[in-house]
Amino acid sequence: MPKTHNHPKEEITVVLIKPDGVKRGLTGDITSRIEQRGLKIIALGMVEPTRPLIDDHYPKNKEWINRLGEKTMSTYSKYNIDPEEQLGTSDTLKIGTMVREWLLDFMTSGPLVKMVVKGIHAIDMVRKLAGHTLPNMADMGTIRGDYSVDSPASANRDNRAVHNIIHASETPEEAAKEIDLWFKKEEIHDYKRSDEDIMF
Ligand code: ADP
Repeated sequence: MPKTHNHPKEEITVVLIKPDGVKRGLTGDITSRIEQRGLKIIALGMVEPTRPLIDDHYPKNKEWINRLGEKTMSTYSKYNIDPEEQLGTSDTLKIGTMVREWLLDFMTSGPLVKMVVKGIHAIDMVRKLAGHTLPNMADMGTIRGDYSVDSPASANRDNRAVHNIIHASETPEEAAKEIDLWFKKEEIHDYKRSDEDIMF
């Protein structure tokens, strides 16, 4: 990871409320949890993304695709499900490739809310608020743990991605790439919150 000399409170991250979150009316609660934690929303909008935009949003490298496949495999082994029987393969790369296609279907199935969030360790903080990627593993008190119940075992059986309400950048590099992809410069604003001087 490159060294950064920015002040920790300048860290920024991208949050997307996925179609399931928007359609379930969770936008207000999600933005509220982010703001309540002391993070600042500096860009906000609703978009209906094209498939190429989502295709560029998610990484295309083998490691990442393999990791998606591994998430399915770990759930399958936990619940004693035979991947060959369910998906016709136990090759994590092949499963990951299938999951990535389902993810493109899911992410283009309705409007998304896009946000840029700024604050102390914004990337880790938002991921902590979001909870584990797979709702079946997410802790109570997190967005996914409080509002979702999906699992790869169920989703993959129905040929779809896991519905887990929210996307949040994982690294500073990913955040920078996603800001360029989703936002024009003039869509990003800055201001001072009235509680900043007291909280940090
Ligand atoms: P995160 O969104 O927490 O960063 P990933 O980048 O690993 O998680 O995965 C991207 C998205 O793909 C997840 O948010 C979820 O919607 C979906 N997903 C991940 N793993 C699986 C899986 N095994 N089966 C179905 N969908 C999955």
